[in-house]
Amino acid sequence: MSPVNLLDFDAAALEKFVESIGEKPFRAKQLLRWIHHRGARSFEEMSDLAKSLRAKLADAAQLASPAVLNDSTSDDGTRKWLLDVGQRNAIETVFIPEDDRGTLCISTQAGCAVNCSFCSTGKQGFNRNLTTGEIIGQLWMAEHALRDSARTGASGVSDRVISNVVLMGMGEPLQNYDAVLPALRLMLDDNAYGLSRRRVTLSTSGMVPQMDRLAEDCPVALAVSLHAPNDTLRDSLVPLNRKYPLQTLLAACRRYVRAAPRDFITFEYVMLDGVNDHDAHAKELIALVDDVPCKFNLIPFNPFPQSGLRRSSSERIRAFAQHLSDAGIVTTIRRTRGDDIDAACGQLAGDIRDRTRLSERRAGKTIPIAASVH
Ligand code: SF4
Repeated sequence: MSPVNLLDFDAAALEKFVESIGEKPFRAKQLLRWIHHRGARSFEEMSDLAKSLRAKLADAAQLASPAVLNDSTSDDGTRKWLLDVGQRNAIETVFIPEDDRGTLCISTQAGCAVNCSFCSTGKQGFNRNLTTGEIIGQLWMAEHALRDSARTGASGVSDRVISNVVLMGMGEPLQNYDAVLPALRLMLDDNAYGLSRRRVTLSTSGMVPQMDRLAEDCPVALAVSLHAPNDTLRDSLVPLNRKYPLQTLLAACRRYVRAAPRDFITFEYVMLDGVNDHDAHAKELIALVDDVPCKFNLIPFNPFPQSGLRRSSSERIRAFAQHLSDAGIVTTIRRTRGDDIDAACGQLAGDIRDRTRLSERRAGKTIPIAASVH
């Protein structure tokens, strides 16, 4: 029997596993702390477990995160890992250091089936869902890498830690609900990463039934990829809108916030020149979200070759933001980070494909990769 990957297990699943190998349930808590809290990479390191148990674990289980294909750090400190998830698929994980926080952006699927017209991941199509181990494995791997860098003093991240996690990389997290939920639980578990639920943000393009489930199961902070103020425009930008149109989506947002009082929804809005950035669109938006506690995050579009779309000018983005702010809506404009290593938010398929061909020449295989724009 092939060894199970313990990164696939949240606390409850780990308890079942230790029972299945004839151990007492409390061993699960010890294991959880070793793996995620103390960052053990092998069972050998787990010094307060009996040698016989460590041997049993080495026989039946493993700790496996996706292999790192590439690790690059931008001039601004943003660090990006390209990770191999098998069958010629790769995903990206990005660490963004800021003065008061360190944010890790992780992927939940290889590719994405939603096919938003402004997103390079969507253009790549859907390959497969990631497992829980591949999702939490990105956090586990990044913690190790950042700790190692701190120890060696490399890459200027010595005083940085991961304080926030955003599920905004490749994929629609709520289309992979069953694997994402245990990963979220691990992020929040005090014996694992112990992050507060407001420091974990899941970004969705509007999977309404799963938004309701999440509100019940694990109400982390929610970001919704809105991108348009009316159904006609959103149908063309986010095809999922045909299934869950705006009024249905906004009703789900209201329910979500009701389930987690004092919270708000972050609406993501990619700024597309001449498409969704007119003053009239801002006015429509203000009316649309009138009774939803929310803030807006405007994302300057990063053009990619086949998109046929352009980024709104800085003046237009600022004017759009001003309209929303004047209506009392907290509005931020996302700062572009990691440009020099293609770690800026999404839409870099062209560049990435070029690099993939490079790796193809070097390693004799192709690994398609693209970034999303939640
Ligand atoms: S924006 Fe998000 S949901 Fe839309 S295609 Fe890209 S990854 Fe998928």
